Amino acid sequence: LYRLQPQMKIFDSARVNLGGLTGSVEQVMELLNRADKTYISSGKLSFKGLKQAIAFNCVTFRYDPLEKPVLQQISITIPRGRTTAIVGPSGAGKSTLIGLLCRFYDVTTGDIYVDGEPLKQLNLADWRSRIAIVSQDTHLFSSTITENIAYGRLDATTDEIIAAAKLAHAHDFILELPQGYETKVGDRGVRLSGGQRQRLALARAIICNPEILILDEATNALDSISEHLIQEVLQSFGQNRTVIVIAHRLSTIEQADQIIVMEKGRVREKGSIQSLLQLNGLFAQLYHLQHNTVPT
Ligand code: ATP
Repeated sequence: LYRLQPQMKIFDSARVNLGGLTGSVEQVMELLNRADKTYISSGKLSFKGLKQAIAFNCVTFRYDPLEKPVLQQISITIPRGRTTAIVGPSGAGKSTLIGLLCRFYDVTTGDIYVDGEPLKQLNLADWRSRIAIVSQDTHLFSSTITENIAYGRLDATTDEIIAAAKLAHAHDFILELPQGYETKVGDRGVRLSGGQRQRLALARAIICNPEILILDEATNALDSISEHLIQEVLQSFGQNRTVIVIAHRLSTIEQADQIIVMEKGRVREKGSIQSLLQLNGLFAQLYHLQHNTVPT
């Protein structure tokens, strides 16, 4: 496994707020039951799909008004149809940034724009219906494979469920289970491996046909979405979609069109892997350590 973290722990991640969440953002909200904690109001503009980019403009965010900001002066652009990797040490603010994007929280100062419109002015349900999250650990319900996948979209047809499972590279292992798609999984059902659970999580996200796919790659190999699966997703389903991946592995980072390097709530560096290597800063330092090469 290639990882960018061991030597300096810079890209180490011990705890991720998105842990355990998978599915459309509306369902994630339901699971979190956060709606009653922070009041997020819907905007009036209907949202019909991302045309160009999501832009954070000088965004600052505090969870607690008395504490210092967790994100400070974040200005980034996430282009449509590209893969953006967010890297940084534990506590850098990666999950918080995603939380703002999904409007689990609203920015304290600054603004997030979607094709030039302030995110707050967009209809919240429209916006969230376009986003799906696949996180580190996957919660499976004590129910059949079919129902676990269809949880991503309750009106999905059998054909759609199978198509999603195929895209997530889950179809083959599902067919080998005693009752195929009707096999019960979860606490009282067949035990699945971590990799199999992640494939189901991915199928659950894919069935939402999200325009924006958020992947949360863990550092812990056992809990994490397998490296191989991430590669496959980025290369197949991820093509022409807006993918945002909280990334720890070099192989994932190398596939991204853009890398945002965060540290202590700030964006330290951003750009393509080539431009970051040329910059010869924090990212380059870590990259060369990982490769055991000496920067020139
Ligand atoms: P990790 O890789 O460990 O998940 P991260 O880069 O995703 O880290 P965040 O989870 O966004 O970082 O956390 C950034 C900071 O915000 C941390 O100092 C964290 O303690 C704090 N924080 C995160 N969630 C909350 C919350 N719900 N309330 C208060 N503070 C929080």
